[in-house]
Amino acid sequence: MKDYYEILGVSRDADPDTIKKAFRKLARDTHPDANPDDPEAEARFREIAEAYEVLSDPQKRARYDRGETIGGQDLFSQFGGLEDILNQFFGGSAFGGFGGQRGPARGRDVAVRVDLTLAEAAFGVDREVEFTTMIECDTCDGVGAEKATDVITCSTCNGQGRVQAARQTMLGTMMTVQECPDCDGTGSRIKTPCPGCAGEGRLRGQRTLTVEVPPGVATGTRLRLNGKGAAGQRSAPVGDVYVEIRVLADERFQRDGDDLHHRVRIGVTEAVFGTTVDVPLIEDGTEPLEIPAGTQPETVFRIGKKGVPRLQRRGRGDLLVHVEVVIPTDLDDDQEQLLRDYADRRGEKPAEKKKGLFRR
Ligand SMILES: [Zn+2]
Ligand SMILES: [Zn+2]
Repeated sequence: MKDYYEILGVSRDADPDTIKKAFRKLARDTHPDANPDDPEAEARFREIAEAYEVLSDPQKRARYDRGETIGGQDLFSQFGGLEDILNQFFGGSAFGGFGGQRGPARGRDVAVRVDLTLAEAAFGVDREVEFTTMIECDTCDGVGAEKATDVITCSTCNGQGRVQAARQTMLGTMMTVQECPDCDGTGSRIKTPCPGCAGEGRLRGQRTLTVEVPPGVATGTRLRLNGKGAAGQRSAPVGDVYVEIRVLADERFQRDGDDLHHRVRIGVTEAVFGTTVDVPLIEDGTEPLEIPAGTQPETVFRIGKKGVPRLQRRGRGDLLVHVEVVIPTDLDDDQEQLLRDYADRRGEKPAEKKKGLFRR
């Protein structure tokens, strides 16, 4: 596993402010735009951003500190991800995008919500989702031109897609190579736009996807599907889809992380003499649980590994069974007499029944 602390050059007990400062400094030094001739700058920068993404989030940091693997789908899980982090630190327009070439607009990210039953969240499910977004134009296959010959070389940049420019940034004036303003960095222009999409290369339409939900997700889990979002302008990269999970309530179980809690109600004599109850399982069916004689109210029994499978790890949580002892409130006369006799022999002094004295 990567040592995120080492990557940011901070100690393991560094406070959030120190982490933020370390990231800001490193990001400034390694940002691809500040190192245009270094092809590895972007990879280094991403590593730093990844370390920051994990260590700046208290929950992810705690998981990381426990030695859990933080998978790709948890990284940059905020909408916008890496771009957002950059904007936060450098302001949206300060950088022209990685590699200095932006071109036609990338497709937008799309958020969709998926409601799951507890069992579906526990064991995973394939769920079809449908949403309206920009999709590639069929007429021109996303090119945006009526015919292939309508795509001509841009004269401003001679098809290079880039021009030299001086830019003011927070790092001072930098001579950088910028995308050509006349062709959006593509090096080509369109003479006659496609009539189907007016040269956009994309249209509004319906997209249907099958989301493979992994076992162990919970409400708030976000899955990222790369390149499944809105089509980009004129074949620019497609946006991502963020699937936000919501798990519906289950009246049998309360979930606490990977553990499930279930309540059973037993009678007084069952608590006194012991009994066996059938505990429902999330995977359907039941498991017999022996309640020993003399079980006190609110005793908790643990059925191992019958909870929720752990997301991206092996094993399952436990099923905790809380025992509720029901005190009867609907005794008939015979039952009451039995209990009062019992109280006499035990030397207990229950209150006398107010109406009962006169009823007999
Ligand atoms: Zn078209
Ligand atoms: Zn150009």
